Amino acid sequence: MPDYPAWQLEHSYSRLPNLFFNEVEPTAVTQPELLVFNHALATELGLPEEEAAVYTGNRLPPGARPIAQAYAGHQYAHFTALGDGRAILLGEQITPMGERFDIQLKGPGPTPFSRRGDGRAALGPMLREYLISEAMHALGIPTTRSLAVASTGEKVWRQDGGLPGAVLTRVASSHIRVGTFEWAAANRNVEALRALAEHTRRRHYPEVENHPVALYEAILERQATLIARWMLTGFVHGVMNTDNMALSGETIDYGPCAFMDAYHPETVFSSIDREGRYAYANQPPIAQWNLARLAEAMLPLFHENEKQAVEIANGLIPKFETRFKHHWLSGMRAKLGLFTDETDDIGLIEDLLNWMQQSAADFTNTFAELSTARFEDSEWHQRWQARIARQPQSRETCTELMRRSNPAFIPRNHKVEEALAAAQDGRMQPFHDLLAVVTQPWDHDKHLPDYSKPGTPAGYRTFCGT
Ligand code: AMP
Ligand code: MG
Repeated sequence: MPDYPAWQLEHSYSRLPNLFFNEVEPTAVTQPELLVFNHALATELGLPEEEAAVYTGNRLPPGARPIAQAYAGHQYAHFTALGDGRAILLGEQITPMGERFDIQLKGPGPTPFSRRGDGRAALGPMLREYLISEAMHALGIPTTRSLAVASTGEKVWRQDGGLPGAVLTRVASSHIRVGTFEWAAANRNVEALRALAEHTRRRHYPEVENHPVALYEAILERQATLIARWMLTGFVHGVMNTDNMALSGETIDYGPCAFMDAYHPETVFSSIDREGRYAYANQPPIAQWNLARLAEAMLPLFHENEKQAVEIANGLIPKFETRFKHHWLSGMRAKLGLFTDETDDIGLIEDLLNWMQQSAADFTNTFAELSTARFEDSEWHQRWQARIARQPQSRETCTELMRRSNPAFIPRNHKVEEALAAAQDGRMQPFHDLLAVVTQPWDHDKHLPDYSKPGTPAGYRTFCGT
């Protein structure tokens, strides 16, 4: 075993056929400065403390072999060839525990996939990704992580003029997406498809038998648990294009995402999502739609006869709905402190959600405060209490389960905006304060009304991080 901390970069992805990546160098920036660094994550990864230059791409760490990954994707249902237009993978760090994580720079300059883009990122969106991804991790939701945000000293030019530029260091189990499979399929390269499937299985599903149907089912199962976790936490991803769905089952690509406060199934934050394709309640059917695109891409692996392959796919895709509902229901039961199953639990949950919708109740706080006096005189509360009384567990055990299943803190939209605005003016303290709160989301004993009150600005709109 090497002496840690140390860079231990491997490049298993680069052994895939050439159509999956391009070698590329980051473009140096004038003034790298480290603004945020995740010491705890660096320790887990076994990485040494580094100077800012490494986290902007100015200096490559030992063993780096930078590439941009190729992929395609359905963006708002339209198929497009894409690829990392503003991200460069340095390699896969092997941790002291023997795990493998992609270390990727986001915003390090153009790549062959940049099209008309500059390959750069603005500070606000990179800090936003850092904050939300680390909050998601603390909430126990599978996600890519954030290791660092470094400012570049350069401006990036967007619709709203010149903005401070930055590079985010993203850490992920891998960056293989539904769109990576779509890319192989679009090239009509069955050998490449097979190699990608085998790479994906070994990397993320080593316990699964070496068969494309088994792999697909395992991927579907992980997506079902992931989307259930989003729904149970009020998370709206905002841009669930197939290139933004990772086969590892991690949440990836924090663009226009946000947490909803007032419960409404049609909640949309993304400025470009005018038809609500990626609205809160649409996330499960969209995940299934994306998995249908994955099945389509995998058809030649399912069966050499296309008709039979389609039959296999048609049998697999609907399983998502069943598996999602299963995970959602068990998660909802936990949120209500329920250990046992009763047939009318769905009715109990739906009545609560309907009430929340009608009264625009805050999603997070309603669940966090269910057992408080605030709700006691409602008819629903009495039904719920009676339901709790029918199970053998003590009240304390139920309350414990609820405290573990209903966070006290999520990144509130008004606090996120406040922190990002301050950072743009060179004041990082509000960001660090907010980060400290949202990375301890289960701390119900902390009284921080400013961080727990809803306060989504009127007409709140979020933007893709371009
Ligand atoms: P996203 O919405 O972040 O998932 O990005 C969609 C695609 O656009 C990806 O292939 C990105 O790499 C690419 N892209 C986004 N922003 C830029 C940029 N500033 N320069 C080049 N490519 C970009
Ligand atoms: Mg993306």
